[in-house]
Amino acid sequence: MRSVKAVPIRGSAGDQLAAHVRELEQVLEHTGEAIIVKDMNALVTYWNREASSLYGFSAEEAVGRTLRQLHAADLSEADYARILERIRAGKPTASTADRRKRTGETVRVALKTTPLRDRQGRLAGEITVARDVTALHHTEEALRGAQAALEGRLAAIRESNRNLTREIGARRKTESAMRKSNLALASTVRQLEGFRRDGEALSRMAELLQSSTQRGESYAIVRETAAQLFPGVPGALYIFRESRDVLEHAAEWNSAQAREQVVAPEDCWAMRLGRPHYVTRQGAVRCRHAPEEGSSYVCMPVQGQGQVLGLLHLALDLGGRGARPPEEADRRLRAFTDSIGPALANLRLRDALRELALHDTLTGLYNRRYMEDSLKRELHRAKRSGKPASIIMIDIDHFKQFNDKYGHDAGDFVLSAVARAIGKNIRPSDIACRYGGEELVVVLVDADLECARARAETLRVAIRDTNLTHLGQTLPAPTASFGVAAYPIHGENPADVLKAADVALYSAKHAGRDQVCVAELPAAT
Ligand code: GH3
Ligand code: MG
Ligand code: MG
Repeated sequence: MRSVKAVPIRGSAGDQLAAHVRELEQVLEHTGEAIIVKDMNALVTYWNREASSLYGFSAEEAVGRTLRQLHAADLSEADYARILERIRAGKPTASTADRRKRTGETVRVALKTTPLRDRQGRLAGEITVARDVTALHHTEEALRGAQAALEGRLAAIRESNRNLTREIGARRKTESAMRKSNLALASTVRQLEGFRRDGEALSRMAELLQSSTQRGESYAIVRETAAQLFPGVPGALYIFRESRDVLEHAAEWNSAQAREQVVAPEDCWAMRLGRPHYVTRQGAVRCRHAPEEGSSYVCMPVQGQGQVLGLLHLALDLGGRGARPPEEADRRLRAFTDSIGPALANLRLRDALRELALHDTLTGLYNRRYMEDSLKRELHRAKRSGKPASIIMIDIDHFKQFNDKYGHDAGDFVLSAVARAIGKNIRPSDIACRYGGEELVVVLVDADLECARARAETLRVAIRDTNLTHLGQTLPAPTASFGVAAYPIHGENPADVLKAADVALYSAKHAGRDQVCVAELPAAT
């Protein structure tokens, strides 16, 4: 051991020891590890061949030098002090560190240190076993780098996976949104098509109703349009009677069973509330006029010119509890009632105008023009059928005096009371009219002269028996004089028959009033 201090050995025991040392030296030289022995001051005392090849310093260069002068030249003061401390602490250590080769290259070494003790067991220095792990270190670094790169790639893959998932999700959402919007589009198209069809049907109905002059005609138009707008749905239209106490059946459609002919407004919730009333199959708040439980329906008030004119009843299927008609049906229903309302109001107005044109406003009897038209018609009919027709001409007695004594209003009151008495005592087919002033005419259809005379007598008594109280004042019962004439015996045309009746009336006046006079037969020519 060239670098270890020579130990003086004598005799054969010394030879033996020297041989042993040589053997040990050989072992140390061939361990394959760099072995360095240093004293307490880090002064190298042994440096094997492996240490030379590791650090580039030969044993001759290394032994007798401090680590500072060798491979630890680069260490900071603090790090070098820590090495000295370690040596002096006498504790085994294991570490990895960078050291400087003689060539200036850096070498990464794995270091294992063991305290060196002398024969007395005192700490004498430190044995270091060093191994070059530069390659390993590089491999580890490369591995770490590769791992970092892999992790980076993995993170990138994960990120792109996440993005893909997000993209797929977004695409699915887009697809589902597209599907939804396609469905919505299809339904809008259907709805628009429905609007167009409804619009056509409703405007055609409005046009027809505009030109219709009779109720029957108008109801038929409503019926046809309703059947078209609500195919297969039974329904009916009810219209307020003039007196507004009851709704009368006007039209029905798609109906299998007979309907109520009249509906009292208080029997219908829609009429009571003034708004649509929806009733489901199990609905408990049912109109009294509606069928018993088990069927659903809608009642809609029909309005025109600010007034409820009628009721639309439709057995729409509303399904179970708490349902309303589908939006489309509801809209159609409202559009329908909104269209028929004004048409019905027009019809009513037209009826009222016709009434006004045909009737006398004070007495409510037909007017003279209507009577003359009907007389002409009735005489034609009588001529064809060979049946008779008669006329009673009536004039209230001393009506001027009556007016003078009680006032014109009382006179009007009496005039309408007389008209009522007449109306009550003739047949519905007879035509009573105000001929002018206080003169009245009744045309009796299918009545001969005797029949007319008897009727005139009934009327005379009825007028005389009229009890009148006007503004708290009891008025004397009026009397009237009657002239009776008949077709064909007193004339072939209205003027002749009327003239004959007028002459007979004059005779009644002349004879003392409050009596019936039959026209004389014309002298035979
Ligand atoms: P006579 O018995 O001869 O028929 O006598 P009179 O007074 O009824 O006959 P006259 O023809 O002289 O008079 C008819 C009167 O009837 C004149 C008019 O004051 C009255 N009169 C006609 N129309 C109305 C009406 O609408 N209201 C009222 N209050 N009076 C009327
Ligand atoms: Mg008169
Ligand atoms: Mg008179």
